[in-house]
Amino acid sequence: MSLPTSVDTLVIGAGPTGLGAAKRLNQLNLGSWALIDAAEEAGGLASTDVTTEGFLFDVGGHVIFSHYAYFDDVIAEALPRKEDWYEHQRVSYVRSKNVWVPYPYQNNVSVLPIEDQVKAIEGMIDAAELRVRAKEPPANFDEWILRMMGEGIANLFMRPYNFKVWAVPTTLMQCKWLGERVAAPSLKLVVSNTLNKKVAGNWGPNATFKFPAEGGTGGIWKAVAKTLPQDKLFFKRNVASVDGPGHSVTLADGSVIKYKHLISTMGLDFLVDNLKNVDEKTHKGLSTAVKEGLIYSSTHVIGIGIRGTLPPRIGDKCWLYFPEPDSPFYRATVFSNYSPKNCPEASVKLATIQYADPSKGKPSSDAKEGPYWSLMMEVSESHLKPVDMQTILAETIQGCINADLIKPEDEIVSTYHRKFTPGYPTPSLGRDAALDATLPVLADKFDILSRGRFGSWKYEVGNQDHSFLLGAEAANRALLGTPEITLLNPDWVNGRRNTEMRLNK
Ligand SMILES: Cc1cc2nc3c(=O)[nH]c(=O)nc-3n(C[C@H](O)[C@H](O)[C@H](O)COP(=O)(O)OP(=O)(O)OC[C@H]3O[C@@H](n4cnc5c(N)ncnc54)[C@H](O)[C@@H]3O)c2cc1C
Repeated sequence: MSLPTSVDTLVIGAGPTGLGAAKRLNQLNLGSWALIDAAEEAGGLASTDVTTEGFLFDVGGHVIFSHYAYFDDVIAEALPRKEDWYEHQRVSYVRSKNVWVPYPYQNNVSVLPIEDQVKAIEGMIDAAELRVRAKEPPANFDEWILRMMGEGIANLFMRPYNFKVWAVPTTLMQCKWLGERVAAPSLKLVVSNTLNKKVAGNWGPNATFKFPAEGGTGGIWKAVAKTLPQDKLFFKRNVASVDGPGHSVTLADGSVIKYKHLISTMGLDFLVDNLKNVDEKTHKGLSTAVKEGLIYSSTHVIGIGIRGTLPPRIGDKCWLYFPEPDSPFYRATVFSNYSPKNCPEASVKLATIQYADPSKGKPSSDAKEGPYWSLMMEVSESHLKPVDMQTILAETIQGCINADLIKPEDEIVSTYHRKFTPGYPTPSLGRDAALDATLPVLADKFDILSRGRFGSWKYEVGNQDHSFLLGAEAANRALLGTPEITLLNPDWVNGRRNTEMRLNK
């Protein structure tokens, strides 16, 4: 298949955003289009790796919470059979003070030691007073935490956990992004649960999620890519630069593609750095905004495959949060619980690489049968929170022992470690000004719609469903001039089920 030299709409990236754009362009069928990606296959950060021993690991815990009928239509078309999916109850806990606190933490402080219950409730009372007295909205995420939950829960969970996730202090983050993500505690419920020694339970009775039976999260996006015309998808094509005024993209191999509209899902910082032939004033404005306003963290994904049956203490747990310093990770996912295909079959013989605690001795090199189970951990990194590439795997395994996820004598048969840069788009204090100073300029001057997790840098609309719709809505804007709801109104789309766009109309 030869690369086109000119198309009406060019899409860069075959992650969820680029595939959303391509799906909609194909559906609208109002002009020529092509999609290019540097990677070998579709998926982007929603891909799945497989270790040599046969354990699957996503790029960290990926769970679908769809806000859109269009997204559901596309996923159902790509993986239509009941047996393509497993459905799970969301079972999620926070490891705090050596106990598992059901999520959301703030509603379940009744399981904490008594002195921490007191701190949490005193803080919530102070927070209620703060809310009444406050005249201005909170200036940053830290102030938001203090107003919503108080000093007790801030210090027990919110501050340390969020530093582990974002790799920046909560004082350097804004709070407009929060929307539906953080449950506001009811002081009445917390006090009554605490006095009655009750837990509020997990999420409510219908809180379920589905996960693909085969191929991990990456399996979804490979299946979606298969529903598109294959002669319009070009992989292993790296974009080197974009000529804004000239409306063309130059690839690393020197080929050039001209376009009328460009939907770019590359990092906005990379796009601006490699935007050519732009007048000096415009370029300076764009690059200053990006450099001063946009922050990201890297994500290390660390996976371990373990021989044995799943221990009852793990049971049906899905994902677990870790605010405390005895583990380097902020989240662990019991990935083998999502699909049995995430692990090799029990009949596969594997040698033990190490005991979880290497001081237990050197295991025999003989390959033995399973069964197997697996854990996947996420560790963030930034200049404020460095990570040692050489030791992080060992620290993570020790963290799993400290958190009682695994035992020192457990046999580890597979390990996985990969660093993803960037991993999380930080909702920093300067983010919105930076986006206001870049995205409209790119669109209005050069017909470039920069969209996606790092294309438009908005974490609150940075999940797979959002990303897919950012792409689809960008296609609508390019071809029909329709306003983009997801980019411009995150709270609106997150607060409802969005049914306006459908695959069959
Ligand atoms: C740790 C982690 C946990 C997550 N958890 C969840 C979750 O639980 N639920 C959920 O729904 N979502 C989750 N997500 C988000 C999900 O992965 C994103 O929504 C999605 O991957 C973003 O899609 P995107 O297409 O915008 O970007 P990406 O997936 O980053 O895709 C960008 C694509 O552009 C290509 N590209 C970049 N630069 C170039 C270039 N110069 N030339 C050619 N191609 C290029 C890349 O190869 C890539 O394929 C998580 C993400 C991370 C990192």
